[in-house]
Amino acid sequence: RNVPVLGYRLESTSAAHDSSGLSAEKYEYQAEVSRLMDLIVNSLYSNKEVFLRELVSNASDALDKLRFLSVTEPDLLKDAADLDIRIQTDKDNGIITITDSGIGMTRQELIDCLGTIAQSGTAKFLKALKESKDAGADSNLIGQFGVGFYSAFLVSERVEVSTKSPKSDRQYVWEGEVNSSSYTIREETDPSKLIPRGTRLTLYLKRDDKGFAHPERIQRLVQNYSQFVSFPIYTWQEKG
Ligand code: ADP
Ligand code: MG
Repeated sequence: RNVPVLGYRLESTSAAHDSSGLSAEKYEYQAEVSRLMDLIVNSLYSNKEVFLRELVSNASDALDKLRFLSVTEPDLLKDAADLDIRIQTDKDNGIITITDSGIGMTRQELIDCLGTIAQSGTAKFLKALKESKDAGADSNLIGQFGVGFYSAFLVSERVEVSTKSPKSDRQYVWEGEVNSSSYTIREETDPSKLIPRGTRLTLYLKRDDKGFAHPERIQRLVQNYSQFVSFPIYTWQEKG
């Protein structure tokens, strides 16, 4: 399979050495991605809560892919038998984590999936959004196409995607900031953050959006927007 590599390596950021001495590598987004992110953040600010539906639907897709592959390769399930989605909130610090035990991403898949617009759905959305002069059309467009992963930046200052594919023996962290034209990838080396398989998204919420990190708010959004997801979605009450 011939996969075009559209994201390209910019530099190794020597300032970003992790504990093992490995450095984070910095990449530039494909130009369309930067445009899409601007459009999403500038036109959907009144529909910010769609981020949760989009990220839960990605988690569900990842679980579907794993379940499908596991029919012929049951070994794929050996590291974590449960197929579920876990959403945790830290309201004091304004952080949401969404963890799935799905198919995960290899390092190259992080670049292909989160640095380029490979998805026709997203490309169509971008086109329709550009063509729509009608301000009221946005919410219809969201319903039609879905806005995808970058909707995380509607509410997040910074997003970390820590992910482990069964195809790789390493876990990688993709990290991006709102209004930035680049992202970084590094190996996950913090033992407390290692997962057997799947993906953990950590959303560091914008100051004005920290209210989303309340368990009740998350539970309400999950009920409203994600009721047809066919995997269990667990949410946590905070202790204390
Ligand atoms: P779409 O879901 O329409 O493909 P997104 O922007 O939502 O577009 O996601 C882009 C791609 O990133 C997905 O197609 C998938 O390959 C990858 N991806 C996103 N979230 C996850 C996840 N939780 N687990 C595995 N892959 C993911
Ligand atoms: Mg999606």
